[in-house]
Amino acid sequence: MRKLKKQYIIPVFIPHLGCPNDCSFCNQKSISGTIKMPTKEEVIKIIDENIKNIRDEDADKEIAFYGGSFTGIEIEKQKEYLEIANKYIESKKINGIRLSTRPDYINKEILKMLKKYNVKTIELGVQSTNDYILKRCDRGHTFEDVKRASKLIKRYRFNLGHQIMVGLPESTKLDEIKTAKDLIKLKPKMVRIYPVLVIKGTKLEKELQIGEYKPLTVSQAVERCKELLYLFHKNKIQVIRVGLQNTQEITDPKNKESQVVAGPYHPAFGQLVDDSIWYDSIVDKIKKINVKVKEVKIKVNFADMNNVIGHKRENLNRIKEIYDVDVLVEADNNIKEGKSELIVIQTYDEYTEKIREKIT
Ligand code: SF4
Repeated sequence: MRKLKKQYIIPVFIPHLGCPNDCSFCNQKSISGTIKMPTKEEVIKIIDENIKNIRDEDADKEIAFYGGSFTGIEIEKQKEYLEIANKYIESKKINGIRLSTRPDYINKEILKMLKKYNVKTIELGVQSTNDYILKRCDRGHTFEDVKRASKLIKRYRFNLGHQIMVGLPESTKLDEIKTAKDLIKLKPKMVRIYPVLVIKGTKLEKELQIGEYKPLTVSQAVERCKELLYLFHKNKIQVIRVGLQNTQEITDPKNKESQVVAGPYHPAFGQLVDDSIWYDSIVDKIKKINVKVKEVKIKVNFADMNNVIGHKRENLNRIKEIYDVDVLVEADNNIKEGKSELIVIQTYDEYTEKIREKIT
């Protein structure tokens, strides 16, 4: 079997200054931890330090300009950053450049310029495909802009990525499923899913204070993200991240430095979603067995062990509590990642028989 190359992303944060918009949930300077555009020297330093720490020489390495809306910053500044990144491609230290931007900041001229600098992937902040919800959170663009930009990006042969949010003001589970279905039709190569966190200093924080916005709980957010994951996986679209990356600012609201005021924050949010998918899969397998079981063994690839067991053994505890089934988990690397094999160790009849024998 061909081993997949490991992928490393070297993030360079370009802050809010590039973005004249003010989405109600966004306070870029909190999220990226900076308000000032990095200088040439700073960008080089970030990239060099990251490269130095990547030991795997064969790994795929990409420089990613994240944070604000890259193609919204002044053109000379974009070129300055891209020139730096491109030099690393020319010297074969880096394999690609990716950036995130808004759909209304994409046009043919911009794409031609990005092509010249060897940009490989463009991630669009979509958030929702419902125009009412987009307006409700002051996004300043419509779904039509997303469609137009996505088609153009694909026509110019970039990898297309979409970023969506769950738990936006007035957004329901059905709206989010509709968003996923709308995006699937646009065939992105990859997707990121972010549950909405309320960040200090945003309009959303004010809405929260006056009771106009109610954030999702962690378990609601997990359930909603899981539904979307199922849809994307079914359509062979890679979900490259679920939940914001933990940083000094995006961390537990109890932490003094945290910029998160409320919302479904969890340090391992993505893992909770994966755990929950495994929970469903195991329960589904148990339900398909024709007899009532008391003890089963699940064999999975070693890489999946933690997700099967669940954060703090939650999956195994829940199955025991709800179905009264003991689950043993065993690593077997002959099993493909994502697959599992269930073996019945003891049926309920066998179990009760043993108890009866003990009593008599
Ligand atoms: S477009 Fe992006 S960077 Fe600009 S305010 Fe909205 S979320 Fe923040």
